[in-house]
Amino acid sequence: MRDLGKHPEACSINTATLGFQAPIETVIDAVARAGFGGIAPWRREVEGHDVSAIARRIREAGLTVSGYCRSTYIPALTEHDYKANVAANRRAIDDAAALGSPCFVMVVGGLPEGSKDISGARRQVAEATALLLDHGKNAGVKIALEPLHPVYAAERSCLSLLSEALDLCALIEGNCSDPWLGTIVDVYHLWWDPNLSRDLARAGRENRILGFHACDWLVPTSDILNDRGMMGDGVIDVPQIRQMVEDSGYEGSVEVEIFSVNNWWRRPIDETLRTCRERLATST
Ligand code: ZN
Repeated sequence: MRDLGKHPEACSINTATLGFQAPIETVIDAVARAGFGGIAPWRREVEGHDVSAIARRIREAGLTVSGYCRSTYIPALTEHDYKANVAANRRAIDDAAALGSPCFVMVVGGLPEGSKDISGARRQVAEATALLLDHGKNAGVKIALEPLHPVYAAERSCLSLLSEALDLCALIEGNCSDPWLGTIVDVYHLWWDPNLSRDLARAGRENRILGFHACDWLVPTSDILNDRGMMGDGVIDVPQIRQMVEDSGYEGSVEVEIFSVNNWWRRPIDETLRTCRERLATST
């Protein structure tokens, strides 16, 4: 397993970790200063701005983009809304290409408001992912499905398990040696899965791991969405999971992604970055 203290190029920051306190330009410079090699911006920092100028700023800071977050939720009650969701994601994939991001992160969405049809939601996700995969191939951007902890199934992601994500990849793309469709492994969402070791080995074999997200699960957790912990502060054996991911052949970025409204988002971004960089070296 790589020593992240000695591999800044493998260390990336998902900008959500910094609480969107500063404009993207300021964040880019701070991330580079703190000794990271990568950054994963969010659409809220990019859409409506000059995307090529942001891309240039990232390059000139010596950073690479590890991913672009994230998709508009897919499932909808009407055909019209479903198509609008797919179209919004096509535009975001174009921005991912302009940023030089290798992948577009898809948090697929849960039940549309008023629906109890999770099977229908999953069918819409499968159909839309196939369409977006075609668009991504043309744009040169891989599609990265991020399974979320099942507690989010209603509101954020009807895709919960790594095995489900891999099955969906295989269903849509078939077996291929250089796939354009893959998954994000986020320790917060997958740590509890009793089949994690088996499924990570499969994900590596099938060449489907497009990103690795690190944080920790705090006990107690005060907010299931916005109380994520810094690596080392919770109950996830993050190094063990990274070991499995790297043993499976993954050589990409380790991206810190911490939603923490009452703690890290309130701290100065330089302090959060410094702590993330240290914990990548010691607790990830
Ligand atoms: Zn994530």
